[in-house]
Amino acid sequence: MTSPVLTIIAPIFNEIDNLPELYRRVKETMDSTGEAWELVLVDDGSSDGSTDAILKLAQQDARVRPVVFARNFGHQIAVTAGLDYSRGKAVVIIDADLQDPPEMILDLVAKWREGYQVVFAVRAEREGETWFKTFTAKLFYRIIFRITDVKIPLDTGDFRLLDRKVVDVMNHMRERDRFLRGMSAWVGFKQIGVSYKRSARFAGTTKYTFRKMFRLALNAVTSFSYFPLQLATYIGFISAGLSILFIPVVLVLRLLAKAQLTGQATTLIAVLFLGGVQLISLGILGEYIGRIYDEVKGRPLYTVAHAPDEVDTLLPPSSPIK
Ligand code: UDP
Ligand code: MG
Repeated sequence: MTSPVLTIIAPIFNEIDNLPELYRRVKETMDSTGEAWELVLVDDGSSDGSTDAILKLAQQDARVRPVVFARNFGHQIAVTAGLDYSRGKAVVIIDADLQDPPEMILDLVAKWREGYQVVFAVRAEREGETWFKTFTAKLFYRIIFRITDVKIPLDTGDFRLLDRKVVDVMNHMRERDRFLRGMSAWVGFKQIGVSYKRSARFAGTTKYTFRKMFRLALNAVTSFSYFPLQLATYIGFISAGLSILFIPVVLVLRLLAKAQLTGQATTLIAVLFLGGVQLISLGILGEYIGRIYDEVKGRPLYTVAHAPDEVDTLLPPSSPIK
């Protein structure tokens, strides 16, 4: 089989009810382009039968290429594996829950044909999402935008098209804590956004627990900014500056024998405040050191139980092979 022109990557974590609809809509959209395409489905350690469903799809349609992880590695790593296995001249990353409408791929591809190498979809509207998620997401993108050197476009998810050139560069960035939106902004190239309305989930519930969301946010900050590390320096300068300012104030008060700063309370507050700041700074250092430690270990990013070319050998002998 010759290399496809377009690759669609969808990470799958317990999305059994979304799979048939995802396949149907992707197939319909991609067939309408008239180009050769492939759909890389990365099974991120599903336990609801998605794995078998993916393998079955691959059996029916050779354009579906399954990558089955040996356990759950998380969304960003699943997409990374998709990028590793992709062969298209352009690659589109899409969520499996149909929050990113597959029909939008046509708009992304149109921009790619105009010569853009990264075409990201901007969420102009969100449907069926809690106010908490919308609010924290909005806040998060704005904080990240302020404290990082890389200008990561506001309100974009991973729904985007990447040119082969960009994918090749990103595949060489083997950092462990991956924030793909940031990485694809970092590479440069000609980038453009296309806005869209993010739909509600087709079926199932969100696979992003609060913990996973928090982790992603933390990864984004530590991967693209030293700001938290510099905070200790700033606070240090401020408190040192304040204490120097206080010396003449205390002296004058004392000489005039007016109201004096008395009592243990003041001292206690100062000690607790500085102790707190120091512990937080240590914790921030720890976050970065832990990440350095993880990098140094140099483990693979994911472990694959079944790679795409193994599909035929995985099928039970009784199942019909077309
Ligand atoms: N996902 C994954 N591994 C995980 C969590 C999520 O592969 O550990 C996939 C999930 O199946 C979906 C995509 O990542 O295709 C986005 O997840 P979800 O829709 O739950 O996130 P949300 O849209 O709520 O932010
Ligand atoms: Mg979703």
